[in-house]
Formats: sequence, structure tokens, C-alpha cells
Amino acid sequence: MPNQPLGGNEMPRFGGPNTFMRLPAAETAQGLDVAFVGVPMDIGASWRAGTRFGPKSIRAESAMIRPYNMGTGAAPFDSLNCADIGDVPINTFDLKDSVRRIADFYRGVLGQGAIPMTMGGDHTLTYPILQAIAEKHGPVALIHVDAHADINDHMFGESIAHGTPFRRAHEEGLLIDSKVWQIGLRGTGYAAGDFDEARGWGFNVRQAETLWHKSLAPLAEEVKAQIGDAPVYITYDIDSLDPAYAPGTGTPEIGGLTTPQALELIWGLRGLNIVGCDLVEVSPPYDPSGNTALTGANLLYEMLCILPGVDYR
Ligand code: MN
Ligand code: MN
Repeated sequence: MPNQPLGGNEMPRFGGPNTFMRLPAAETAQGLDVAFVGVPMDIGASWRAGTRFGPKSIRAESAMIRPYNMGTGAAPFDSLNCADIGDVPINTFDLKDSVRRIADFYRGVLGQGAIPMTMGGDHTLTYPILQAIAEKHGPVALIHVDAHADINDHMFGESIAHGTPFRRAHEEGLLIDSKVWQIGLRGTGYAAGDFDEARGWGFNVRQAETLWHKSLAPLAEEVKAQIGDAPVYITYDIDSLDPAYAPGTGTPEIGGLTTPQALELIWGLRGLNIVGCDLVEVSPPYDPSGNTALTGANLLYEMLCILPGVDYR
């Protein structure tokens, strides 16, 4: 029997361990199919800070998630052995050292054969994860849901920051550029062509305004058909959602996706060869109701539900 989340009839949901969904805590990813990992970091953020508290809050709000998915029929814990292996010990005084520490940590997780499911943390963290992922799987397809393209060359002169990870990943050959999908981009930029450079690299960009008032199920079908059986990493920035749904984030942008659209997108991606996922940019100091962390926790659960090997009822 795989590990199970601690049930609400065994221990009240406001008690018990502060692990993702109150799964067992583990020291390493040994023997796991799926490892939940926190990256408590905000030193890559350019505007509001606070994402260092993201993993703690996502874990706290995840306590109410029950194991079976009534919307899709997914039963992830019937077949996948999951645990929460805790946080990456970043160096909060040094972003570049933190990036090295994150890459090393994920080399370990991937070497033990587990799929990493990450709770962020600012979006810088996806860059070192992709370094480790590409060492194992080669260049990967990427589904990047975000209000921002995160392809700046530098921020205040720095090459490593939460607005640069996908340019660095592109430069280092970590991605199959033609199978990168950036979904939900919007707002204001420094130059009128800010979203176009990555289109020139081969990225597929779908700006938020082209998705307003529409189901994202057809887009998910398009993405799935285009990616095919390539290994794919999903990076989900909570600021892709409208601030009405997810206000607790560092760089909010109006006119974003809705929660039902987020679910349509994730549900529609079932069947892809997913090798890792993250949910980033939850900033608890700006999330007084906890709703942003609650939404982030649920989206991470929904991504768990579409991993290869999940049973459906
Ligand atoms: Mn981002
Ligand atoms: Mn963003």
C-alpha cells in the first residue's frame, strides 16, 4: 500500500504534521514515486517579497485536501508512493549559492527516481530544477503558466533573478524550444516587443487577453498534441491567475486567468509524459485569507493527479 495522507477521521485536519496534504515526512526520495519539496526562497523577487513563507502556507492550506478527485476521478494515492521530503536549505544571503544548492538537491531527488513536485518560493528556483531535470532527461518541453515571460536578460545587472529563468534555460539548451508553451502573459512591459523575442526562439506564447471568457480545454488539447510524448515539465506561477483569485503574490497583474480555467488547463494535460511540476510565487504576507496558498495547494494536487501512472475511477 503506498503512503496515504493522514485522514480527517484519524486526526482533525487542523492538527497533525505540516506536510503537503499531511503525507508522511521522509528524509530522502528513496522509494518514492513522487517527492513534494519546498523551496523557501524570496531573494530572487523584484517587487514584493514573502515567498520564503510560501511552502509553509501551502502545506498548511493543503491540510483540507482529501485524497480522491471528485472532478476527474483521479485516485493518485492508490498507485503512487508520495511523501514530503521537506525544504531545500537555501542560502538566504546568496542567490547564486542558493541556485547551486537547489540544483544539487534535485539531482539527488531525480537520482532516486522520484518525480519532484515543488512548492515555491520565487520563480528563480525553476532554473536550477530545469538544470537537474535536463541532466536526467535531456532537454524538455515546458508548460509555463504565468502573467510574466520571465525571459529578461538581466535585472538590475544580475543574470539570476525571478524574471530571468527561462532565458537562462533557453541559453543553456535545457528546453526543447519549439515545445515551450507560455500561457497567461499580460500586463505592461519595458518594450512593445517584450513577448516576441521568445516567439523568435520557437516558444509558443498565448497572452491572457486571447484566453479571456474561453474554456482552456481546447488549448490544452493543442498543447498536448504538439508536445506529444516528449518529457515535459510544468511550471505554474500563481500570478497567472487574476489577483481576484490569487492576491497573495509578489508581482500581481490584473486581467488574469480564472480558477476554473486553471483546472480546465491542468485536467486537459493528462496523458503527457510529465517529469516534474512546480507551483511558485505564493507570498503569504499578502495573503491574509490564505486563499492564494489554498489555491496553490489545490493546483499542485491537480498536477499530481495527471502524473503518469495515476489511476482513474
Ligand atoms: Mn514567474
Ligand atoms: Mn509571474
